[in-house]
Amino acid sequence: MATKLPSPPRVGMVSLGCPKALVDSERILTKLRANGYDMSPDYAGADVVLVNTCGFLDSAKEESLEAIGEAMAENGRVVVTGCMGNEAEVIRARFPDILAVTGPQQYEAVVNAVLEAAPPVPNAYLDLVPEQGLKLTPRHYSYLKISEGCNHRCAFCIIPSIRGDLASRRPDAILREAEKLVAAGTKELLVISQDTSAYGVDLKFASYPLKSGGEVRAHMTDLARELGRLKTPEGDTPWVRLHYVYPYPHVDSVIPLMAEGLVLPYLDIPFQHASPKILKSMRRPANEAKVLERIAAWRLECPEIAIRSSFVVGFPGETEEDFQYLLDWLQEAQLDRVGAFRFEPVEGAAANALPDPVPEEVKEERYQRVMELTARISAEKLAAKVGKTIDVLIDRVDELAPPSEAPDRGHFDAPHAAHHHDVGATGRSKADAPEIDGEVHLRDAHGLKPGDFVKVLVEEADEHDLYGVPA
Ligand code: SF4
Repeated sequence: MATKLPSPPRVGMVSLGCPKALVDSERILTKLRANGYDMSPDYAGADVVLVNTCGFLDSAKEESLEAIGEAMAENGRVVVTGCMGNEAEVIRARFPDILAVTGPQQYEAVVNAVLEAAPPVPNAYLDLVPEQGLKLTPRHYSYLKISEGCNHRCAFCIIPSIRGDLASRRPDAILREAEKLVAAGTKELLVISQDTSAYGVDLKFASYPLKSGGEVRAHMTDLARELGRLKTPEGDTPWVRLHYVYPYPHVDSVIPLMAEGLVLPYLDIPFQHASPKILKSMRRPANEAKVLERIAAWRLECPEIAIRSSFVVGFPGETEEDFQYLLDWLQEAQLDRVGAFRFEPVEGAAANALPDPVPEEVKEERYQRVMELTARISAEKLAAKVGKTIDVLIDRVDELAPPSEAPDRGHFDAPHAAHHHDVGATGRSKADAPEIDGEVHLRDAHGLKPGDFVKVLVEEADEHDLYGVPA
């Protein structure tokens, strides 16, 4: 008789917050999987629920507390981890029955809490670490964290006090992880850290030997070049996307890699403001550089480059004049993608002590003005892509509705035609990072699957998205 395997305990996971928190969740799940756990897609089937929280803004904290409350009500056996884990008293005061609270990056502590809450059943047949770990993101794209912490002390940010100073991972270890991800089906690597351009500073940009021979320097440009040389099992070059890059002078040296196609022509630079006065009081890094001139030079060298950024409006002391400076700057910079935030004081941030807070209604009005301007710029930029053929990475494909449920499309004569023409898919261009940028919606996308690279003829555009057909 075949051996009946005992069923392993099941863990539910709720992951809140930024992509960096998502990477932490993935690491925790990898460890739990290695310890013989299964994942539960719902509260009911979970022996224990892990909530990975975000504590960056007060609103994020509230969202984290709500998620914990929901997990407590639905399941009752809850372990909390992540940034808000630094405020264990707040969590325990509200949810005295919580099983454990651990802070960010305390992987061992989280795993131990789960081991205690739902002890694993030893299983000689199943206890193997899967090659690639268990991932929350779709298999075709993966976040690659290259460092933790940050050496800056921006006035509105509490990340350094939570995560500490910059601690870069060794470049050979990052490359090994990237190779495994790509071998396991990743088509796009999203390089993340608090400050990507500072990568390697703490390692003094030392060189490390590579298994394949040669060596690699702990430096953003060198790492990006090596990542760009990876090949998928199908022989494609995976997309390498750089996030959270500050415009230090050496950023100029990754632009040629973009022009060569080794790294996506995409830069996510959180400028946060443009007014020198506000940038100074924000204590932002690299704000002295002549950014507009640099952007123009990057575009000259790599015309395809898409620049994404985020901005804070209503920072203490921001006058109408400072704000107008930002709008004029945005008009000139013509950034491809822009996110805006209304300033929110975070407990423990230096900015809270600054004078001249901006009234809420003024913040709101400025926020609307930034969004209107940047939506208009985005719409114009996307409209210019109509008629062009672009590369797209497919994220999801529409399910075919069975004939009885197919919507009535009277304009198609043959029932099969309605079916056929309905097949669509959604993907992203090189200018679109998952979840934060736009999408490309395809019609007549037969035979495609998530993770496919496809050429698309752009037929239409709106403020954020493109619409097209496989070329
Ligand atoms: S660069 Fe500034 S905003 Fe970014 S993590 Fe460091 S301190 Fe925070």
